[in-house]
Amino acid sequence: SAPLLRVENLTSEYLTTRGTVEALRGAGLEIGHGETVALVGESGSGKSTLSHALIGLLPENARITGGKILFGDTDVADWSDRQFRTLRGNRIGLIPQDPTVSLNPVRTIGHQVIEAIRAHRKMPKASAQAEAAELLDRAGIDRPQTRLQQYPHQLSGGMRQRVLIAIAIAGRPDLLIADEPTSALDATVQKKILDHLQELTAELGTSVLLVTHDLGVAADRADRIVVMNGGRIVEAGTSDEVLTNPTDAYTRRLVAAAPGLSEPSRAPAPLPADTEVLLSAKDLRREFTLPARRGEPKQTIHAVDGVSFDLLRGETLALVGESGSGKSTTAKLV
Ligand code: ATP
Ligand code: MG
Repeated sequence: SAPLLRVENLTSEYLTTRGTVEALRGAGLEIGHGETVALVGESGSGKSTLSHALIGLLPENARITGGKILFGDTDVADWSDRQFRTLRGNRIGLIPQDPTVSLNPVRTIGHQVIEAIRAHRKMPKASAQAEAAELLDRAGIDRPQTRLQQYPHQLSGGMRQRVLIAIAIAGRPDLLIADEPTSALDATVQKKILDHLQELTAELGTSVLLVTHDLGVAADRADRIVVMNGGRIVEAGTSDEVLTNPTDAYTRRLVAAAPGLSEPSRAPAPLPADTEVLLSAKDLRREFTLPARRGEPKQTIHAVDGVSFDLLRGETLALVGESGSGKSTTAKLV
């Protein structure tokens, strides 16, 4: 059957003060119904440009200069922003790359999720409120009712990314574009979020375009991998084909350079013989009190809540935990 989306020979450029930058130079790809496709390539290869073009969210200084973006039979490549608004949300949703800039800092989480819901379906406020809590829950956020009252800065980076997932699935889109969060989130949190996203989209039958610079992530998550280099698609195939039998030279280099795909993991370094305790942390605690909001009591956050450990001379101690677990606060205390 016909694919959900087909991009043909797409070209685009950015106008800058120093001239034009050709970001897409004839890119093409297909995404089937319910399929997860990973878009892989190094920084600057055009991944975000291509994925934003699909959803009509290119910046002001960008323009599409040729090619087609076919949703079913409809070519949306030259659609206006106004036309795209009818697709955005209910046909295509975007989980943006940077959770810190993608949420409005002066609006509660609830306000933003409810806005996303009501953009697609007219419903009374109370039902939208209940639906918002349900969406946060589906995106893997605990105590959703509490979170709805909070502002983005009160949430960890991983939590904010989950809110963006909730917003993106609010309109039950056929296609979700997930521009993988890069440095903003640590690896454990990122893995959990991707696990959750995979489960959720499988359940809803949503197609996914997963944008990543990490071939390992692509191999784990996608049915097919599409490799981008210099604004072109240089390789496309099932994850197995691309990893075991890449035809393009650039892809071969990517595969060779991907950690974990070929090398076994390193054994941990042996403990130092010298066991002098350099630093001993005992029951460290740190609380933050958030200012009271109208009609509500002050909120206390227990950022560090009874942490103890010894650090030996000459030892390297790794403090591991997901985003928001209190690593930085602990490091500052000692
Ligand atoms: P990353 O992995 O770092 O997110 P990417 O693959 O998403 O990279 P793009 O952001 O799509 O790459 O960039 C493609 C090309 O377009 C690059 O040469 C980049 O410098 C340029 N570019 C991207 N955004 C703009 C912009 N707003 N104005 C001018 N040039 C831009
Ligand atoms: Mg990008």
